[in-house]
Parts: sequence; structure tokens; C-alpha cells
Amino acid sequence: MEALIGVLAGDGIGPEVTAEAVRVLEAVAARYGHRFDFRAGLIGGAAIDATGSAFPPGTRLLCAEAHAVLLGAVGGPRWSSPDAPVRPEQGLLDMRAAMGVYANLRPVVTHPALYASSPLREARLAGVDILVIRELTGGIYFGRKERTADSATDVCTYSRAEIERVLRMAGRLALQRRRKITSIDKANVLDTSRLWRAIAGELLPREFPQVQVEHLLVDAAAMHLLSRAADFDVLVTENMFGDILTDEASMLTGSLGMLPSAALGDGLRGLYEPIHGSAPDIAGMAKANPCGAILSAAMLLRHSLGLEPEAEAVEKAVFEAIEAGHRTADIALPGARPVSTHAMGDAVLRGLKPH
Ligand code: NAD
Repeated sequence: MEALIGVLAGDGIGPEVTAEAVRVLEAVAARYGHRFDFRAGLIGGAAIDATGSAFPPGTRLLCAEAHAVLLGAVGGPRWSSPDAPVRPEQGLLDMRAAMGVYANLRPVVTHPALYASSPLREARLAGVDILVIRELTGGIYFGRKERTADSATDVCTYSRAEIERVLRMAGRLALQRRRKITSIDKANVLDTSRLWRAIAGELLPREFPQVQVEHLLVDAAAMHLLSRAADFDVLVTENMFGDILTDEASMLTGSLGMLPSAALGDGLRGLYEPIHGSAPDIAGMAKANPCGAILSAAMLLRHSLGLEPEAEAVEKAVFEAIEAGHRTADIALPGARPVSTHAMGDAVLRGLKPH
């Protein structure tokens, strides 16, 4: 197959991890006989420096034309002063809205080779295989904001249509998995959550009768994620709750650097990025773990290009490389020498050689 892939490397470790993900996609193309054209675009701080905008028109056009977009990370202290006219993170919000990608898929899967890298005990990690679906373009991050010297307001709004479409995505994906959905809200306090729970309680059983549904308050969910993570299959929740819970869940897998994500809308076009940020503390030091970016490329193959065997081959190559002892500093075993970002990419590529 032929595909145009937009590559937005961004800031900090973004370019370092994205380069490895692109090498992996090139290897997949060579091994399976596909043609992927990669086109680079500016986003975040790098885009502000070059154009004054965090999501310039050229990047907007690329996102509209590409079959899929691979993103590194944006942000950093250089662009974070409180009086900065534009912030890199605004580029991300604008891009998600422009691409109409309203559902963020974040798989959280534990792997025995990484149990030792998690702060949690092994008994809590075995068998964890969760797909978190976070609503991405509504809620408090997108609501009206007001600020005076002594008060501030962030408005949280959700419409029925916004809630229904992300619940349907959860229902469809649950059918391909263990057929269980946990819908997370704060219905004891928030009206947006009461609407969310009412719609989930009615839509999911009606449209997906084969799927078991439970409702949890977000505070309880934060606790259960650590005490009984293996019980969960699909978690679906609103924007801010999903943002926070997925960072918490990343600790189950061993490192923030391991976790991929996909942002999807109604069509096949998607935005794929590791869940970590630009990690200014290790940028330029060749220490960053590229696995979250590489596993995001695997999600791109699966969800936007429909290449399931290729996606599985990439995932297998990543975990085989880790099992063989190739580990960046964030997941290194005690006493072992960590490998560089590029060497980690090399180790994954060895598992993807053409037949
Ligand atoms: P971060 O995710 O960048 O880093 C948190 C910690 O995890 C750091 O110690 C970092 O070194 C480590 N880490 C992150 N990714 C890693 C990797 N691949 N390999 C090894 N270690 C890794 O979060 P932060 O420090 O809170 O934010 C830094 C900047 O990134 C901020 O400007 C923030 O706004 C931005 N950010 C961007 C995104 C995004 O682009 N989607 C997401 C989160 C944060």
C-alpha cells in the first residue's frame, strides 16, 4: 500500500524518538512491500520560532492531506514564560481540533520483562491489558477561560453528541477485546458527569448489548487502577480525567517512555504520539526511550492503514529487544549499562529485517 505520513517531530526529545519511529516504519515498508512517503512539518516551540505560530498553515495542510500523522512532543522552558504570547501546547490543541480527532486511545499493557521497572508489586501487574479512551476535544480544556488578578474561571461543557461519539468508539473497540467497559465520571458532583453517566447508561446497553458496562467515580477509579488494574478492559472517560488517569496508569508499565497513543475521529486518519512530553531534562543526551514513539507507529499501522500483521510485528520486535536486554536508562536493570535512543531503535530494527 501507499501512504503519506506527516512527521511532526516537535521539541526536546521529540525529534530523537520520532527519528527511531520513522526508521521502524521504513523497515516495515521494505519488509512488507509498502511505500510510505514521509513529509515533515513544524509544530510547537519549533514552529513558534520559525513562524510565530504553534500550528502554522503548512502543518494544518499536511494534517489534512496525510493518511496519518506521527508526532514527537512539544514544549519546553524556552516557550513557557507566563507572558509568552503563544504556547507550544496550543499547537497540539489546535491540531486535534483541526483533524477532528475526538478520541484518544491509550493502551496500557504490562510485560513481565518490565515488571521490575514499575514501582508496583508484581502481583498487581500480571495480566494488565487496558485500553483507555479519553475524550479529546471537549470539556474543561476547551471551555471559556477568564482570569483577573484575584479569580480565575475554566468552564467545562459537554454536549450529548460529543459524549455519544466517544462512547460509540469505546463500544466498537470493546467488541474487539474482552467486551467490558468501565465509564468513569464524577457524577456525584458535576453536571457534565451526570449527563455523561445518563448517556452511557442508556447508549451502551442499547447499542452494544454484548458488552458489560460499569460506572466508576474518578476518585475510586484512580485507586482501583493501582489495586485491581487487571480487572479492567476498556476505560472511557472525559478529557481531563483521562489525561490524569493515563499518566497514573503509565506507572504500571514501567516508564512513561513506553506508552503510545492514537487520536482518532470518524475516518481512518489519525494522530499518533507517545504520551510523554518533550522531557527537557534529558533532551539532546541520547537517553530518551523511543519505544513509546515506535509503539505509536505500530498503532498508526493498525488504525489508519489497516496493517494488523505489520503492527503486531513491530510490537513483538519492541518487546523482544527489551527481553534481550536492550534497555534505555528509564527501564535499565540495576547494574546494567543503558543503551542510547538510537541503539534501542537498532535493536528493534533487528527484529524487523526483510524475510
Ligand atoms: P515529560 O513527559 O516531558 O517528562 C516527565 C519525566 O519523564 C521526565 O523526567 C522525563 O525525563 C521522563 N521521560 C519522558 N519521556 C521519556 C522518554 N521517552 N524516555 C525516558 N524518560 C522520559 O513531562 P514534563 O517534564 O512534565 O513536561 C515537559 C514539557 O513537555 C512541558 O513543556 C510540557 O508542557 C510538555 N508536554 C508535552 C506533551 C505532548 O507533546 N503531548 C505531553 C506532556 C507534556
